[in-house]
Amino acid sequence: MSDLFKHMETRLIHAGEPRPRIEGAVSIPIFQSSTFEYAGQGSYHDLRYIRLNNTPNHVAVHHKLAALENGEAAVVMASGMAAISSVLLTFLSSGDHFLAQDCLYGGTHDLITRDLPALGISHDVIDGRDSKDWEKALRPDTRLLYMETVTNPLLQVGDLEAGVSFARKHGILSVIDNTFASPVNFRPLERGFDLSLHSCTKYLNGHSDIVAGAVIGKSDLIERVTHKLNHLGGSLDPHACFLLHRGLKTLAVRLRHQNESAALIAEFLESHPGIRVVHYPGLKSHPDHDRARRLLDGFGGMLSFELEGDVDQADRFIGNTTLPISAPSLGGVETLITRPATTSHSGVSPEDRRAMGIADTLIRLSVGLEHPDDLMEDFDKALKRC
Ligand code: PLP
Repeated sequence: MSDLFKHMETRLIHAGEPRPRIEGAVSIPIFQSSTFEYAGQGSYHDLRYIRLNNTPNHVAVHHKLAALENGEAAVVMASGMAAISSVLLTFLSSGDHFLAQDCLYGGTHDLITRDLPALGISHDVIDGRDSKDWEKALRPDTRLLYMETVTNPLLQVGDLEAGVSFARKHGILSVIDNTFASPVNFRPLERGFDLSLHSCTKYLNGHSDIVAGAVIGKSDLIERVTHKLNHLGGSLDPHACFLLHRGLKTLAVRLRHQNESAALIAEFLESHPGIRVVHYPGLKSHPDHDRARRLLDGFGGMLSFELEGDVDQADRFIGNTTLPISAPSLGGVETLITRPATTSHSGVSPEDRRAMGIADTLIRLSVGLEHPDDLMEDFDKALKRC
């Protein structure tokens, strides 16, 4: 990587771009070819084939992603869940145990509570914000610690520093889902995590038009994940690689706007009499605010809140808004609004949701690139009509 690629903004534009440019193309072309002419490769995993995630579109986006988080290597795959499942299945096998932070993305929660036990892989849940009892949950067969930088949907910021030192002390792998923060707000490898995961469906692509995932880390770890992925088959199509590569270029400008807008909206909602609680790590009232200030370069574009009133009231509010689109997912240019109990966390049982602190009335907002004044006016009007 060039010495000039110092800042995130420069890396987003220039890292991983083919040199020399292909036929002079400023934007990398799409290599829509499933297979490539044999060129003397010695290993199956080096043959060029879309399922092996190594077309020129894959290689370019791998280099760009690795550069963003100062990783040695990266690999993209068919979804964020493919990234999570590939990592867990690479480093855990029957008889192994791992520790998982409480309150994770619903799909991850389902995978680790429903699918992994059937493969003989067990876990214990730890309080991500308080490390005092972590040692008690440790077992001789514990192999891995799993965290999220900013949790979905309560926007908690766990004790990430303790996570890294705990994993090092006990010789276990530290893995973190960095989807909500994005490399603009947090770079896990710089803080000592072994592997950073992303749903690229969200901020990294940023335009709500693909589903993709990525894993970033040291070369030997990424090679092991890639080989597992090659066998599991969750490869990313070159056209999706191209869209991800294109979306990445504007990540920093998008995130900066989203950090600022979400902070304004969080303050507006917190001061509104119709709102019971707002979860946003940038608010002084947030229990993890001090830690978030210390660890994050920005508080992010996600927030969640509860209205005074019941589930019907929450649904009425969502229905009353004009600008946000009522849809799951997050991290795109358009503001999305959802009630996690009916979308991202609908697979989690009501008891588990309650234990995680996710009320049925909780509303989650992914702030887009609209002007924050227009969004706040919309919310104000929607609240008045509730
Ligand atoms: N991780 C987090 C934090 C998420 O919010 C999601 C999806 O919402 C995922 C992972 C899964 O991503 P994908 O839908 O790309 O599989």
